[in-house]
Amino acid sequence: MTTNQTAQTRDMGIYLHIPFCKQKCIYCDFPAYQGLTAYYDDYVEALIKEIDLWCAQQPESTTCPVDTIYFGGGTPTELSNSHIELIMERLAHHFTFKPNVQISIEANPGETTHAQLSGLHNMGFNRISFGVQTFDDEALRFLHRSHTSREAIEQITEAYDIGFTDINLDLIYALPNQTIEDIERNLAIVNTLPINHISTYGLQVEEGTYLEHLVRRESLSLPDEDIEDDMYDAMMDGIEALGFERYEISNFAKHEAYSRHNLRYWQYKDYLGFGAGAHSFYNGIRRGNNRYVVPYLQMLGRDVLPAMERDPISTERAQEDYCFLALRTKGGINEQHFFDAFGVHLMDEFGTIIDSLVKDNLLISDNGSYRLNSVGAKHGNYVFSQFLR
Ligand code: SF4
Repeated sequence: MTTNQTAQTRDMGIYLHIPFCKQKCIYCDFPAYQGLTAYYDDYVEALIKEIDLWCAQQPESTTCPVDTIYFGGGTPTELSNSHIELIMERLAHHFTFKPNVQISIEANPGETTHAQLSGLHNMGFNRISFGVQTFDDEALRFLHRSHTSREAIEQITEAYDIGFTDINLDLIYALPNQTIEDIERNLAIVNTLPINHISTYGLQVEEGTYLEHLVRRESLSLPDEDIEDDMYDAMMDGIEALGFERYEISNFAKHEAYSRHNLRYWQYKDYLGFGAGAHSFYNGIRRGNNRYVVPYLQMLGRDVLPAMERDPISTERAQEDYCFLALRTKGGINEQHFFDAFGVHLMDEFGTIIDSLVKDNLLISDNGSYRLNSVGAKHGNYVFSQFLR
């Protein structure tokens, strides 16, 4: 059992990683590969085998009712609905779903048909997340995204008309040549769309990506720190001004339409991940699967679970993880919750750090809880690092 879940409240989240994309975006370092359509059938077969093997080896994990199912990627809608149905049936065979289970799928605008979206909705998917990134066509081409802004607008509206009422879109800021006016123009478009969730993040230059190659060759220049700061403010303040609640450092929702699956990560709850590159956190152990498709298939071909990393979490590390994950959320760390989870007092463990972050005006102390203020949120990585002892 994870530290903060009692037997009565323990439930489960399930993540399925589908590592296929139509084309690779220049900034992406996820396990996501283009040109592997020939492997789709084998991959689904292997994924189902992984679920079967896991459930046979860890049968007690199947007794936790499933609260969230999340198909992420990659681009899960690269698979056909029949593929996805096979996976869902296998999950339903092993696990019990809660009546209000949140079932999410990621999709790229312009890559799915009306029939596919409608089939997913009929299958029980009740939340969809579109990788929009920006409504600027030139930036989309630069990022090597497959869609246009018009396709994004049309597909979001189509999903809503089909019956998806929980719709997320991802937005990037700090793009090369982007201006504050561009961000404002993007948010003006967002304001016309029937969505209730936004995830936003600054463009990162990850090692080994084509973007990194361009930056190293000095073929493009990214916004300097001051401009990036202004863009951050424009994006965060602009989204809140549209009536979205910032419930996590990079996530915003209307009417509490939170991503319950992602909340599990931040609330230090269990989740099982299946698929190449998927991660799990179960019984205090973090596991990470082989991120490459062929080795993943080969391992399952030999009836071997594809976990490459197995990281039992010490109590000390669990407390640190708990704190900085909780700090990502609007509720922050609560002294009583911390005590319930670990049987020790938060201030005995982290009092010096917390007091100094409050003094530096990065954390707010509020009746036994500590949460980031807007300055702390902007410097989140610094704050989180202070909790690593
Ligand atoms: S669509 Fe998403 S997962 Fe696929 S390459 Fe682009 S950023 Fe990566």
